[in-house]
Amino acid sequence: MTKVLVLGAGQLARMMDLAGSPLNLDIAAFDPRTNKVVHPIANDYILGNLEDGINNADVITAEFEHLAHDVLEKCQASGKLLPSSTAIKIGGDRRLEKNLLESCQVANATHKIISNYDDFKIALSQLSLPIIFKSALEGYDGKGQWRLKSMKQAEVIWAEMEDFIKQANTSVPQAIVAEQMVPFDREVSIVGARNTKGEIAVYPVTENHHTNGVLSVSLALPVTDELQQQAFEVFSKLTQALDYVGILAIEFFQVGDELLVNEIAPRVHNSGHWTQQGADTCQFENHLRAICALPLGNTELIRPTAMVNILGEDSVPEAVLAMPGVAIHWYEKEKRAGRKMGHINLCAESSIELANKLIQLAGILDDHAYPDLADFAQQLK
Ligand code: ATP
Ligand code: MG
Ligand code: MG
Repeated sequence: MTKVLVLGAGQLARMMDLAGSPLNLDIAAFDPRTNKVVHPIANDYILGNLEDGINNADVITAEFEHLAHDVLEKCQASGKLLPSSTAIKIGGDRRLEKNLLESCQVANATHKIISNYDDFKIALSQLSLPIIFKSALEGYDGKGQWRLKSMKQAEVIWAEMEDFIKQANTSVPQAIVAEQMVPFDREVSIVGARNTKGEIAVYPVTENHHTNGVLSVSLALPVTDELQQQAFEVFSKLTQALDYVGILAIEFFQVGDELLVNEIAPRVHNSGHWTQQGADTCQFENHLRAICALPLGNTELIRPTAMVNILGEDSVPEAVLAMPGVAIHWYEKEKRAGRKMGHINLCAESSIELANKLIQLAGILDDHAYPDLADFAQQLK
């Protein structure tokens, strides 16, 4: 039985465990908040400390890129960490991420790095409005971001960002990455796996919708070969440059037919949750297969699938479960406004049937909790 230690003890580690059990993989999770290794599902069941977890594991991986560097170094030193600490650190620091994109000559939004007021002034003179400012470290779900639409707001935003940089309690200095706002037509992502032999299997490009900076709906529908090929090329360039092993997700802005990288995530990703029902082998299983040197599973779309995040709610009407083609995945998390509590995967035999089912789902769900779902489902038709 191969033993896997996952750094991070949230829903992604939980879903890795659910996917890994049938393969006879034994999964434990390190919770960085308590510094304990726990069972990924019964996570009050303590298995030991980080050292115990490292010693006990055959392979170590991560469900989260914002990990303390000393934790990553210890795991890297054991020779068991996949993907490498370098890849995980790049995913957790937008400065390193931008360097990687530039060195691989991958299209992305123009940017400037800001550590002080002079840098801020230079960014304002070299980028045009609107500009988005993002914290270099620890940003996720749209947190640590500021949007500048008019120069009148510049000084107020700078004061907030300056406080933010000064108050940071991070192992490397915090900074801000100023980015040109991209007038995108839509947002898409590609999720794929690369194994220790360098073999690659990618899922189809997925369309993503955000509500208040948080992913709300992902759609996996057939895509054009050209778009899939473009995303695949970026995936293979970046994974080769990093000698990457595991699942990597790449978020893009689509402008016309062109893809610009927004950011990468060195782990299984929310926009890949649809694979639990829409593919033969889900992203969690393929991540484990990749890091445990097993053959990669089929990543083709087997049926059009939508994934709807359940944000800040701990129940849905029973009528949701009664719908054919619905699967619900709860994370057993304490209810908090806006928190990712679970997700619904909805499958159909065709794109048009999926649109109709989404309209039906939107009608059952409380439209206060899912504000854009009904409109969005209508647009799909
Ligand atoms: P995640 O939870 O995906 O990790 P994050 O906090 O790392 O989110 P981003 O993905 O960088 O943040 O940004 C969140 C959202 O803000 C994007 O999905 C997109 O909708 C919008 N956004 C970010 N950067 C830009 C940009 N340069 N131009 C236009 N929109 C942007
Ligand atoms: Mg991110
Ligand atoms: Mg993002």
